[in-house]
Amino acid sequence: MFGFLGKLLGLRKARKPITASLWRKVESGLPFLDFLDPQDRSRLRELARDFLATKEFDGAQGQPLSDEILLGIALQACLPILNIGLDAYRGWIGVILYPGDIIIPRHEVDEDGVVHEYTDEVMGEAWEGGPVLLSGFDGGAGHGANVVIHEFAHKLDMANGAADGFPRLPAHMSRQAWASAFGAAYDELCAAVDAGLPTTIDPYATEHPAEFFAVSSELFFTRPRILIDAFPAVYDQLRSFYGMDPALGEARQGRTRPESER
Ligand SMILES: [Zn+2]
Repeated sequence: MFGFLGKLLGLRKARKPITASLWRKVESGLPFLDFLDPQDRSRLRELARDFLATKEFDGAQGQPLSDEILLGIALQACLPILNIGLDAYRGWIGVILYPGDIIIPRHEVDEDGVVHEYTDEVMGEAWEGGPVLLSGFDGGAGHGANVVIHEFAHKLDMANGAADGFPRLPAHMSRQAWASAFGAAYDELCAAVDAGLPTTIDPYATEHPAEFFAVSSELFFTRPRILIDAFPAVYDQLRSFYGMDPALGEARQGRTRPESER
């Protein structure tokens, strides 16, 4: 359907050594990783290697698959599961990369039984039990809009059924507290968007609770202060869920670069 072949890359097959300079080059394009301390940074690298060894990557429409691109995606895909584990991404194997926006044919039947055929242009999409589709490989610029983290958050959400903004929570977390924090924040953002008020959170998050979870996850890792300021209870829930505190890490690292450079 997408004209891709299960092309295995050298990175996957042989776990060939990745030079320190390549790691540095890729990570320099992902400045939001700076909140990690050196130990976590090296655990993330290991997890990224394991991820590359267990998933298949395909380039659609002539999208090249360089080591640099694959490492960049693997680091971002593994950031959310650094303290959850690679098992969270079991049950599917493929990541398909596109050079530009992805055009997806849709087919819907409305309440009157009328079939609607149309196409959707998206930057990424995660299919339940299927591949993750990603486009344009500049998603790691750290501006709070990160298509890789977004789509892999959907994958975590889908680990316990259809994407609904309610992933499988670890035993120590309360489902009630999650529902209450996310429900209140979602309603508040929807009300603000409906009222035409400016929001610091992308209004796309109001499309569905699953999108709210994915957009919040992007912010949690790439612009944590924005999420804390807007919805502190959601930040707290994500901190427990992901087992990380990016805002604290940022403060500890003394990140002082101006916003414009992030
Ligand atoms: Zn989404």
